[in-house]
Amino acid sequence: MQDDLLFDRPLVEKYDRPGPRYTSYPTAPQFHAAFAEDDYRAAAERSNRAEMPKPLSVYVHIPFCESLCYYCACNKIITHNTTRAAEYLEWLKQEIRVQGALFDESRRMTQLHLGGGTPTYLSNAQLGELMTALDEVFHFAPAAEREFSLEVDPRTVTPEQIHELHALGFNRLSFGVQDFDREVQKAVNRLQSEEQVVELVQASRDAGFQSVSWSCLN
Ligand code: SF4
Repeated sequence: MQDDLLFDRPLVEKYDRPGPRYTSYPTAPQFHAAFAEDDYRAAAERSNRAEMPKPLSVYVHIPFCESLCYYCACNKIITHNTTRAAEYLEWLKQEIRVQGALFDESRRMTQLHLGGGTPTYLSNAQLGELMTALDEVFHFAPAAEREFSLEVDPRTVTPEQIHELHALGFNRLSFGVQDFDREVQKAVNRLQSEEQVVELVQASRDAGFQSVSWSCLN
């Protein structure tokens, strides 16, 4: 009887198949060969010619992580070789210039999200370099109009670094917190104490972050 309550076979079978990742828009299945580079360039041009061109929203993916969390379905590279991140940053800056050339200079970037992987795999100096490159090309909106967020793995930052992230221009944070149960943490290969997370949340509040959330992913 108890088993019937705990194990709903039709429900398990209903979701026992790959589904689209819900964290990105458009979701991965909506990318297909029928919408090619020319279509993308034309869409960007149309958006520039709109009567009231919209502000810009940019997502930047930082794919590196120091260790693997067993539940993770993100696009990531597990490595301790930080030179790979430095090399990636150079390619990223080139991509930013290519993308930025598609959009009118009069448009302003109001929304930014850094996801991963682990965005804080990059040092704060590298994140500063990235922010400068984005601002040069996409032109940040005035601070009051911005929603600039990043995903933070609590194992990778100190309270001091949280303050530095705010100084770099971020005003929203999402901490990766899956479970505070030590046994669960061991099972998913992700050990981080409750005290560590509470300390960082407090630092975020002290630094002036407008929004602090928890996610089970990053
Ligand atoms: S959950 Fe986050 S930190 Fe863990 S492997 Fe996935 S992207 Fe990396």
